[in-house]
Amino acid sequence: MKKFLALSSLLLLVLFGPMGMAFAQEGQPEWPQYIIQAGDTLSSISLRFNISLDELITFNNIEDPNQLLAGTPISLPGVDWIQGTINPEFMPFGDSLRSLSRRYLISPEDLALLNRLSSPAQLYVGYPVLFPTGRGEDLSLGRAVVGPQTSLLEMAVFAGANPWTMAATNQLAGTWEAVRGDVLLQPGVAQSGPGALPSPISQVDVNPLPIVQGDTVVVRVSAESDFTLGGELIDHTLNFFKEEGASYVALQGVDALLDPGFYLLDMEGDFADGRHFSHTQTIQVRAGGYGFETITVEPELLDPELSRTELEFLMSYTTVITPEKYWQGIFQSPSPNEDGINSYFGTRRSYNDGPYNVYHTGIDFGGGQGLPIYAPASGKVVFAGFKDIRGNMTVIDHGWGVFSVYYHQSEILVVAGEMVEPGHVIGMVGNTGRSEGAHLHFEMWAGGVIVEPLDWLTYTYP
Ligand SMILES: [Zn+2]
Repeated sequence: MKKFLALSSLLLLVLFGPMGMAFAQEGQPEWPQYIIQAGDTLSSISLRFNISLDELITFNNIEDPNQLLAGTPISLPGVDWIQGTINPEFMPFGDSLRSLSRRYLISPEDLALLNRLSSPAQLYVGYPVLFPTGRGEDLSLGRAVVGPQTSLLEMAVFAGANPWTMAATNQLAGTWEAVRGDVLLQPGVAQSGPGALPSPISQVDVNPLPIVQGDTVVVRVSAESDFTLGGELIDHTLNFFKEEGASYVALQGVDALLDPGFYLLDMEGDFADGRHFSHTQTIQVRAGGYGFETITVEPELLDPELSRTELEFLMSYTTVITPEKYWQGIFQSPSPNEDGINSYFGTRRSYNDGPYNVYHTGIDFGGGQGLPIYAPASGKVVFAGFKDIRGNMTVIDHGWGVFSVYYHQSEILVVAGEMVEPGHVIGMVGNTGRSEGAHLHFEMWAGGVIVEPLDWLTYTYP
């Protein structure tokens, strides 16, 4: 009886099969589909895929071309060089044109064409890349780097795969095409992670994206076993610290006066077994949209030599990297007058009608002479004393290259070497140094660069 049922279903399939296929050909040939994004118009889609507007409208039975719904699919009639569903996603760190082409089963040339890339460098971190999905791609494949100790043949043996299958999976003409340093997919080894970095690296996060002038950038790398890790962001050495498990994190400030544009993020490391990996990718820095202000002070305090030596003095403290992390969670306001901010970070400044070639390196809290100043987080006082421009100044080391700095105090109530807790009164608001009236100048440093302090009062780092 069971056999008969199975046989009859087969018959039904055969009988209805050709009819079903005919229907598919008539109504919905297998053209690729594109998921409409916010900001798309029919013209932008027609231009991107080189389809006439009329064809797009007719084929998709679009009644009102001005009412496109983001998130809905639209068929791309006549686009025969690509298949599947085309979905935009932001380019992560740790992938390349090559690794994406391997994972999404599309030639590097077609991927470049789909994304209108003129150079692989255009795939900067955060670039909206179109990926053809739904075509059997597997994002959980293991990856290994071809090295002096690990050839494609050895990797195939390790993965229990045929070397030729492995070559084909990686779009190589033969095993000889696997060059040293290339990261290959290992069929049959399930492991998620960025495609241009070898397993066991399971995740790389760069926050925030896109990066804006004055940001504190957090780079976090997670893996399934220990390894050594180093890197550079915009020519600053990344100092990675170990968190729970095999997760490493680095905090790096981006200068508020850095020209908006494209910069490099490099990462390299070694696994315990001697395997080495490296990856470089372009990253975008956007303008902070900072304002302008003019300030009048005593002319002798504008001496460039004095400014330079005082900044160098401060940097001799704020560029030190303490491997211990003292702070926990969000920073609290250093001022009881927390909403009374008179001047924000990043504002381009002109002193005594000079050029706008400097910027405000902190936030100024108003409020009277003698208001208390609180430590915003746990840390160690590394400097407390008088400087000509900054007046009575205190520098607190919070560890991992993070510092907070306080200017113009009327009184200093801590000494170098003292540990402080959040809320500890470290001094009193004043008008000492280059100042126009009693206020607290509060400044934050990360990785040797001055950053937006409001971020530290708003978000939890790392
Ligand atoms: Zn200030």
